[in-house]
Amino acid sequence: MANAKVSRRLFLVSTAGSLAAAGVVAAGCSSKPKEFTCTDEAGLSPADKTMRSTTKYVDKTPEPAKKCDGCLQYKAAAPGQCGGCNVIKGPIHPEGYCTLWAKKA
Ligand code: SF4
Repeated sequence: MANAKVSRRLFLVSTAGSLAAAGVVAAGCSSKPKEFTCTDEAGLSPADKTMRSTTKYVDKTPEPAKKCDGCLQYKAAAPGQCGGCNVIKGPIHPEGYCTLWAKKA
């Protein structure tokens, strides 16, 4: 009887370990791009913060055809990182938007 309990416990522990490992592998293999934010305003002047808010800058555009990475003013960074903008100071998300959006030529 004791051996049956030990075997059952070993089975449950090893199964749980295998499932956890599979979950880690599945999460690591996901093709979904890593999400990130570009909302850190630390170090910006009050005027720069006001500019971000008055132009309604957001990390996720409300207009799918108008994203910062398609804007004339966008300064691209490496994939998965915040870029910049020639007009709006601070980190800029490639999927972001503000009311100054202008189509890249
Ligand atoms: Fe994005 Fe506005 Fe800068 Fe264009 S002007 S890149 S829409 S923050």
